[in-house]
Amino acid sequence: MKALVLHGIRDLRVEEVAKPKPSAGEVLIRVKACGICGTDLHFYKGEWRVKLPLIPGHEFSGIVEELGPGVEELEEGTPVVAEPNITCGRCYYCRMKDRNFYCPNIRAVGVDVDGAFAEYVKVPAGNVYTIPRGMPFEEAALIEPLACCLRGLDNVGIELGDTVAVVGVGPIGLLMIQLSKIWGAVKVYAIDLIRERLNLAKQLGADVVIDASKEDPVKAVLSDTNDMGVDVAIEAAGSSRAMDTAVKLARRGGRVLIFGVAPQEEEWRLRPFELYEKELTIVASYRSPYTFQRAVRVASSGRVSLGPIISHVMPLERGPEAFEKLSRKTHGMIKVVLKP
Ligand SMILES: [Zn+2]
Ligand SMILES: [Zn+2]
Repeated sequence: MKALVLHGIRDLRVEEVAKPKPSAGEVLIRVKACGICGTDLHFYKGEWRVKLPLIPGHEFSGIVEELGPGVEELEEGTPVVAEPNITCGRCYYCRMKDRNFYCPNIRAVGVDVDGAFAEYVKVPAGNVYTIPRGMPFEEAALIEPLACCLRGLDNVGIELGDTVAVVGVGPIGLLMIQLSKIWGAVKVYAIDLIRERLNLAKQLGADVVIDASKEDPVKAVLSDTNDMGVDVAIEAAGSSRAMDTAVKLARRGGRVLIFGVAPQEEEWRLRPFELYEKELTIVASYRSPYTFQRAVRVASSGRVSLGPIISHVMPLERGPEAFEKLSRKTHGMIKVVLKP
């Protein structure tokens, strides 16, 4: 089968590799679409070290191609998505009351084992979720990031009537805006440096858009909130600069969600006095523990617009070109989905 294989920093190749064979309890999926995530770009740029060679790709949809021995709950030909994270089910964390992905034995498809930038990918049957027939596969590939957003918003807890600021309106920020509104936010501020992204943010429900290349977003939000700031600030860029902005945007007693994945070695300087003075709550979010089912439902309900977030659909063969473009600063792309 054809696959994208990452061999080193900025060394991604289209290759012919062996088609995987599903073992007992596994399902082979014929990949129809797989989104390029910021995490994939971290691997590509060497900002998050993974074992190479690796076929990346963890945001995917497809069709059940073959069932491994013992899998009876699925049928060949069914359209599906899959939770990429595989936990052991036996360790301390896997047996906790609160469902989580702290498992020290966690392996993720496209991170620790071969992923979905390929014609086929195999996953445990328990990770597979059926999607409605007719849902575009490109849009279904966004269910994984949607599931991660649900975890983040569960953690930070938006209440009816809250004001929310989203710092960074790439694919994640654009999902966060829509979900915040569904969750009960009455005013959402979208902040980014790129005009096209802000236009899309507006289209998808942001009430106020702030171009941080033209004006100071902190000043803009403070002057619009009687110098208070927002109830909830969501960082969705994965950069310490955006984290700084999020902390400054939150009101006294506010909550900050640090959501974006920063490079592994990046550091963030905080002014503890500001945390003290504002009595801030800062929460993080790790992947998508047990939020997939809900994400499938939310996506199927049509209450979030996924289509407009996808700026480019390209054949798998153009993957290396797409990765290289996305890894540069000004690429004019939002979500890129590859199709084998
Ligand atoms: Zn991702
Ligand atoms: Zn475990």
